[in-house]
Amino acid sequence: MSKHIFVTGGVVSSLGKGLTCGSIGLLLESRGLKVAMQKMDPYINVDPGTMSPFQHGEVYVTDDGAETDLDLGHYERFTHARLSRDSNYTTGRIYQSVISKERQGVYLGKTVQVVPHITNEIKEAIRRLAGPEADVVITEIGGTVGDIESLPFLEAIRQFALEVGRENAMFIHLTYLPFLRAVGELKTKPTQHSVGELMSRGISPDILICRTEKPLDRDTREKIGLFCNVPEKAVIEERDVEHTIYEVPLVLHDQGVGALIVERLALPRASLNLDPWTEMLERYKNPRGSVEIAMVGKYIELHDAYKSVYEALTHGGIASNVSVRFRKVRSEDLERDGARAHLAHADGVLVPGGFGQRGIEGMIQAITFARVERVPFFGICLGMQCATIEFARHALGLAGAHSTEFEKDTPHPVIHLLPEQMNLTAKGGTMRLGAFPCVLREGSTARGLYGEDLISERHRHRYEFNDKYRKAFEEAGMELIGLNPGRGLVEVIELRDHPFFVAVQFHPEFKSKPTAPHPIFRGFVEAAVARRAATVEAKG
Ligand code: GLN
Repeated sequence: MSKHIFVTGGVVSSLGKGLTCGSIGLLLESRGLKVAMQKMDPYINVDPGTMSPFQHGEVYVTDDGAETDLDLGHYERFTHARLSRDSNYTTGRIYQSVISKERQGVYLGKTVQVVPHITNEIKEAIRRLAGPEADVVITEIGGTVGDIESLPFLEAIRQFALEVGRENAMFIHLTYLPFLRAVGELKTKPTQHSVGELMSRGISPDILICRTEKPLDRDTREKIGLFCNVPEKAVIEERDVEHTIYEVPLVLHDQGVGALIVERLALPRASLNLDPWTEMLERYKNPRGSVEIAMVGKYIELHDAYKSVYEALTHGGIASNVSVRFRKVRSEDLERDGARAHLAHADGVLVPGGFGQRGIEGMIQAITFARVERVPFFGICLGMQCATIEFARHALGLAGAHSTEFEKDTPHPVIHLLPEQMNLTAKGGTMRLGAFPCVLREGSTARGLYGEDLISERHRHRYEFNDKYRKAFEEAGMELIGLNPGRGLVEVIELRDHPFFVAVQFHPEFKSKPTAPHPIFRGFVEAAVARRAATVEAKG
């Protein structure tokens, strides 16, 4: 039988609950336990797929094609938990299911209510992750305790803990201790209120994790323990980390969080092995050099919009023992100033995914620069589509070549709508989503990096490479080296006679871990390192 950990957040949002959950998952896995992870998001959207990056940041895609919250990216980077559609629920999705059951007459004439129908549906969603494959299920409740919309979730987890027995479920509350400079003190009152609010819902936290800028002294710990009804040793300090978020698991480990959980849930006591993680951290903290990667995108001022891409680049750096510096370039600025102004010092150029017309020409200019100046280039999804347009216009001489997403009547639609997208009008969940296989051509860069010819990567797009142009591209040196085996869709293109020019229709960033950097990101950073070395040498 699976044991359950419920993680709530208090005082303010953006405390890094997802990161803390991932870290807890890692600590349990390091003790040989199998974890399953999920997040409950109290907003009404059925999933974040239709939300703007300004609202939500990156949309994280799972193998089974669910468009989910970016916290799931943390789960996947920190643990080996298998994520799916069941790993992320929203209020909207829960209600959608209850309402459709009501329409089918499943409730046999009863009045359908928040308690018990909505709460039952939430409990069912939690139960879906329990089973022999999971020693522990970690469920993160999004939002902040005290929000109106999180109430049904709190009620559901209270009931759930009661039903499975208190020895099989525990609560962890992540809270914030503001530091008041005027008095030089960490203040505990907001935490007391937040725990008070939780208790009024019948939930008493077993562990309190306190986000803070300053160390927690003994007195403060004692005070929090006393007022919040938590043993002092279960009051944990999670101070802002010095180097990287990947230190968080060790911060928690040093204060015995793993041991507390094992004890509280009577989990089997296995020996602990954090070595792979600490070795990775050592490499991260002691780079032998650095490279600069220019990211050219439309939402570049929003770090979260390309969260997994930045993470995966960092992983590539860990593999090559270098730190990766990011030069964030708004594609519109590049249109105004020209590529050289922004990219002259870059050791690599990456154009990530995106939607909509704004900034497209800037991305194309960046790609021309990388292609002609032989700067390592990596294009992802929209990045591959822009590389296709660039090559068509400037190497094949197809003036006005474009994607039909941006220009319906282009004379050369080198990127066009997938057939199954033609007659779709609904926006939510209708893209080509999730994992698809891809066969890589022998001798290609990607084939060499993956070390195998059949790969699987996740997709999220509506447009694709137009088959009509395949021959012209191949003949001019842009090789279509990755194809979907069933349908022949072009998934990877590579430029011959270039140090590194790889562009992919899928999103490889979702599958990179700090302890297992993704092959293409590894290869891209390696190429950037080589370019840097060559530039330094040339300067003498
Ligand atoms: N807008 C493009 C498409 O829908 C690219 C999508 C993306 O980059 N994720 O095909």
